[in-house]
Amino acid sequence: MNRKLQRLAVFALMVVMLGTFVGAALAAEPHTDHQWDEGVWDKEPTCTNGGIKKFRCTVSGCSEEKYVNTDPLGHDWGEWSIPKASNCTESGTKERICSRYAVCGGKDSDIVMPTGHNWGPWLPKTGEAADCTTAGKEVRSCGNAGCPVKSETRDVAALGHNYMWSVTTQPTCTEDGVRTGKCSRCNDTETEPVAKYNGKNQSQGHTFTAWRDPKDTEVEKSRICQTKVRECTECGRLEIANLDKPKHVVRKTTKNGKTYEWFMREPATMNGPGRAVQTCKYCGKVIKSREIKFEGGRYNIAVTAFGPRASAINSALFGLNDRLIPVDFTKIEEQVFALVTDDGILVGEMRVSVMDDTVSVSYQMNDSQTIVSQAVFYMFPDAQSITAADLSDPTRAMPFGTTLPLNGQTYGVIAARLVVNYNAENSANRAFPDSGIYLDGATNNATILQEMTTNLME
Ligand SMILES: [Zn+2]
Ligand SMILES: [Zn+2]
Ligand SMILES: [Zn+2]
Ligand SMILES: [Zn+2]
Ligand SMILES: [Zn+2]
Ligand SMILES: [Zn+2]
Repeated sequence: MNRKLQRLAVFALMVVMLGTFVGAALAAEPHTDHQWDEGVWDKEPTCTNGGIKKFRCTVSGCSEEKYVNTDPLGHDWGEWSIPKASNCTESGTKERICSRYAVCGGKDSDIVMPTGHNWGPWLPKTGEAADCTTAGKEVRSCGNAGCPVKSETRDVAALGHNYMWSVTTQPTCTEDGVRTGKCSRCNDTETEPVAKYNGKNQSQGHTFTAWRDPKDTEVEKSRICQTKVRECTECGRLEIANLDKPKHVVRKTTKNGKTYEWFMREPATMNGPGRAVQTCKYCGKVIKSREIKFEGGRYNIAVTAFGPRASAINSALFGLNDRLIPVDFTKIEEQVFALVTDDGILVGEMRVSVMDDTVSVSYQMNDSQTIVSQAVFYMFPDAQSITAADLSDPTRAMPFGTTLPLNGQTYGVIAARLVVNYNAENSANRAFPDSGIYLDGATNNATILQEMTTNLME
């Protein structure tokens, strides 16, 4: 043993003795939940190899330690660099290195695939373009910068004409027409037939005359006035259309050399006027119509019992056409009064019969054909108290034939209101003016009116 080794042995012995002494003085309680420190690398990891980390327990007096294996770091790749760029048809390469390249030598490379061409449209090749009748070439270019090919060319067949067609001669119902095509590129023209419309049994291509009135051999008689016709001068097709406004024609007949166009539709009677019409000789429609009066017929004429006019007796009755008659109820007898129309014709009689304290009023027409459409009478105690409203009050209007109690009444005023159709030609209905002759055939009406007026005014 040389001196150097002797010194080392003495030092080692002292360390062991000191350790034993300190251990004996500071020994910790035994435990299993060690408090590990942050650890220190026992062996550092690299990109591709794992490392080993050593941990110690920090609890005072515990000398426990452990070793833990760690994963490799993996390479830390940088950006790709392009040592050789790709283009439309050729591939390129790319590379990248690890940031710890100096230690690990990590390096990665890959192929970049070709991009393919970016072709534009095919276009006619200048100087060699195809036209309607000649084959030619067309060319297209790649839009990618750096393309090794740049463009390509191909053969194209002649384009053929591009005709735009229009009918230049219209076909008719019997003749073909013509259509002409003009090439939009070279102005070449071509013609083709257009089939005719094929005769009468279809609607197109005809050459019509102007519209005219139909003949009775062309349409039903009843439609002659409602229609118009035209025909094709080529094929004879006949077209019939309705007129907007019918052209009726008045029907006429000739009798004994005289021409008539009015016909009796409904004869006139006492009930009312009749009707004569003009009709269309084709469709029978009534074109004109007019009333036919009964010869002598007077319609809806007001009738009153003949006496002084009410308006002259009582100013409250001004404007009314009524007449008033005074009646004496003191004698048991039948008194007769004239019934006169507004137009001054005597058409009948009113009878006032006084019995034992009753009176009944009736009437009779001179002509049994006279039609009475309305007939009432009014009875008042005197002329002065009558109002216009009384004479239109339906509750005061009494039908003829009514018998009334008199209750001692000795005097009354009667107004009659009738409406008739009468025949002025019948001699039973005679003129009865205020200045004419009364029912007795002798007394002047003016005298009768004067007497009645005096009586009514009392
Ligand atoms: Zn511990
Ligand atoms: Zn690396
Ligand atoms: Zn290209
Ligand atoms: Zn052409
Ligand atoms: Zn035709
Ligand atoms: Zn007609």
